[in-house]
Amino acid sequence: MSRSTLSVVVCALALAVTTTSSLGAQAVEPIRYTLRFPAPHTHYVEVEASIPTAGRPDIEVYMATWTPGSYLIREYERNVEAVTASTGTTALAVGKSRKNRWKITTGGARTITLRYKVYSREMTVRNNWVETGFAMLNGAPTFVTLPEGGKRPHEVTVELPAAWKGVQTPLMPVAGAVNSFRADDFDTLVDSPIIIGNPVVREFTVDGKKHALVLEGDPSLFDADRAAADVKKIVEAGRNVMGPLPYPHYYFLNMVTESGGGLEHKNSFLGMSGRFTTRTHRSYLGWLGLVAHEYFHNWNVKRLRPVELGPFDYENENYVKTLWVAEGFTDYYGDVLPRRAGLATREEFLDGLSNQIESVQTTPGRLVTPVNMSSYDTWIKQYRPDENTANTSINYYPKGAVIAFLLDAKIRKSSNDARTLDTGMQWAMQRYSGDKGYTPTQFYDVMSEAAGTDLKGWFAKAAESTDELDYSEALDYFGLRFRPTDPSGARAFIGSGTRNDSGRLVVTSVRRGTPAIEAGLNVDDEILAIDDVRVRADGLAARLDQYKPGDKIAVLVARRDKLTKIGVTLGAEPGRAWRLEVSPTATTEQKARLTSWMGQ
Ligand SMILES: [Zn+2]
Repeated sequence: MSRSTLSVVVCALALAVTTTSSLGAQAVEPIRYTLRFPAPHTHYVEVEASIPTAGRPDIEVYMATWTPGSYLIREYERNVEAVTASTGTTALAVGKSRKNRWKITTGGARTITLRYKVYSREMTVRNNWVETGFAMLNGAPTFVTLPEGGKRPHEVTVELPAAWKGVQTPLMPVAGAVNSFRADDFDTLVDSPIIIGNPVVREFTVDGKKHALVLEGDPSLFDADRAAADVKKIVEAGRNVMGPLPYPHYYFLNMVTESGGGLEHKNSFLGMSGRFTTRTHRSYLGWLGLVAHEYFHNWNVKRLRPVELGPFDYENENYVKTLWVAEGFTDYYGDVLPRRAGLATREEFLDGLSNQIESVQTTPGRLVTPVNMSSYDTWIKQYRPDENTANTSINYYPKGAVIAFLLDAKIRKSSNDARTLDTGMQWAMQRYSGDKGYTPTQFYDVMSEAAGTDLKGWFAKAAESTDELDYSEALDYFGLRFRPTDPSGARAFIGSGTRNDSGRLVVTSVRRGTPAIEAGLNVDDEILAIDDVRVRADGLAARLDQYKPGDKIAVLVARRDKLTKIGVTLGAEPGRAWRLEVSPTATTEQKARLTSWMGQ
């Protein structure tokens, strides 16, 4: 998942709960699906599934309730309707046995046919969208399967509407068949988005492997050639960090649909962007950062993964304490790769890292929740944020990225520049990728090996406690400093978040340690006036400029429509104290380390 999705607000256990059978080593008959779009303008995909029963008198099928990489129970089954079952021309009894399960009486048939429709109109990287021009399908919200252990192949055949020319998916094509694809198991099916329509496609090769940039939606204004050339540079920069490309092919699936976000898969990612993305440097750099983040996931989390993230329990929460590695370290490399690829300047790179540090250091919740526990609680907090989240929890994306930065400096320093964080990530990949997964202790150990010194105590402090992070070693090593701020010119500061709600100035958040919380300003208070003079919905900052830090003001608010005056003693607006810059006194040695780290 990407930080851009989360900034809008802001992957286990045994397989299925009631396992009906466990598959042996012999060849297993696939489930075969056919997808049809008889009326795409109504936003439905019709699914026909041919399901082997092994002769059982009844079977259960289920739909996943969440998508790996996006940690919230989504209850996709809510979009399923018109479920029928048959064998040949004989209708079979089918009924629900749980919110996301259906039970079918087979009458002893070896194979049954299940048909259902899925309403597909959510333009997010985890769900489905079907319209006149195209379809974007994800595995979890589309395909039902049998609750069983082991690997059963799943095959998908797409019947195209006449106006749609092709199918783009990282799934392997079935030899000799048209628009038919095969997944070796259900995990692979869930992990493989399917884009159907008339996308713009640019293919390129790195190390003999096919890569495809796929643009669907409205890509007419999106500079596909330039984007493909730059994405190739990100692939090469990633290969230089992590070693050989571990996939058969890779698909960069980008929906040009005025939406945002990205979701990682083993051999692809699905992302969303606006049509003007390649038109301005700022938006383009943001998109390249998203691409670098999601692409780096093909190593970090899709292959090198926390031990808890597999095999997945698709019907329940899967709890994991190291999303600060899976997401945070990926976010760090999401800035590193564009820099090493020459797509971002040193200043832009430092600016990105400064944003991460600033985000951590200005979030009160960093002093309440260790980052490993904000990872564990992501199902109830990070993916379900409210007005108090920043006070109680720390986002594991920026904190993990900052830990990666500090660790990179630490490994370089401790190994006398012989090794870097890249080394640690390569060693972790070699040791724990595939079906193994790593425990927190194993991850700490491999990084300690790279550093040549025991880092378990350091990790315990950085990731398992609420102690403040110590930047001094990293800054000193690279010859960096935080840009000095001038407190004398500080503006008056109240410290509440607000929004313009159709002309009403409404409080949206009240952070700890601000004048607003001390004075008793509440979320949802409508600010009407300061010192008896009306404040317009867009006029709070300008009004506060009429005061200086330390001034006492009377704020008139409407709270559930009752007018109340609240006395507030204004504070001083905190300066941007966490902006990195190269120290003016940096030595030749420090400058050489900077160049080794972030290029010339
Ligand atoms: Zn991510």
